[in-house]
Amino acid sequence: MPGSSEPLPFPTDWESLLVLVPHPDDPEYGTAAAVAKWTAAGKAVRYALASSGEAGIAGMAPEQAGPLREDEQRRAAAIVGVSEVDFWGFPDSNIRNTPELRAKIAAVIAEVRPDVVVAIYGGAEFGPGMPNQRDHIEFAAAVTDAWDSLTDPPRWLFQNGPGATHIETVDGYLAAAVDSLAEHEVYLSVLDPQTPVREQARGVVEMTTSGHPGGPASAFILQRSTLG
Ligand SMILES: [Zn+2]
Repeated sequence: MPGSSEPLPFPTDWESLLVLVPHPDDPEYGTAAAVAKWTAAGKAVRYALASSGEAGIAGMAPEQAGPLREDEQRRAAAIVGVSEVDFWGFPDSNIRNTPELRAKIAAVIAEVRPDVVVAIYGGAEFGPGMPNQRDHIEFAAAVTDAWDSLTDPPRWLFQNGPGATHIETVDGYLAAAVDSLAEHEVYLSVLDPQTPVREQARGVVEMTTSGHPGGPASAFILQRSTLG
């Protein structure tokens, strides 16, 4: 409920967190600064990505772009203290909320058994005139549906995006977030050839962490909790 009340602080009483997204670079658009803070505090974070982003680099064949983007994602993750990054091989730009995808999500959550899951934002738009991508909307819905099929779900399911119910302040972790996103060097340099990669990365980190009264923060929307 955007604007309905002050966001709460993100929970601290957990040990492990799983980030679930459809594409490489999704964790770096808003979550990575918080991840840097969490791993610095000794918490375990891992990433799982439905696709390898193989359709995401204009002019590059998928069989070349997929492995390249996996490498960029692994380097981006390492900078914020994440060494476990899994790619599931679902088709980039054709991610749909299918039984197969829901089964994969449920199986990974059951295997990893994190305390917290942070998923991609699934709302229709990030803001007025800023529509979300269909892959994101479908993937986010698949995560929630998979969650609802679990007999013993983790304690919390969040999405990362606008209309926060919870925020994690990230003062001191913005540089790591910029470095992390800048590892998507080939991807970003093709996406916007006019703007240097680090400048793009700074702009994204600024955009995704600003606007909070207590300073820069990563913003999360609570979807499910076993705590009632
Ligand atoms: Zn994406």
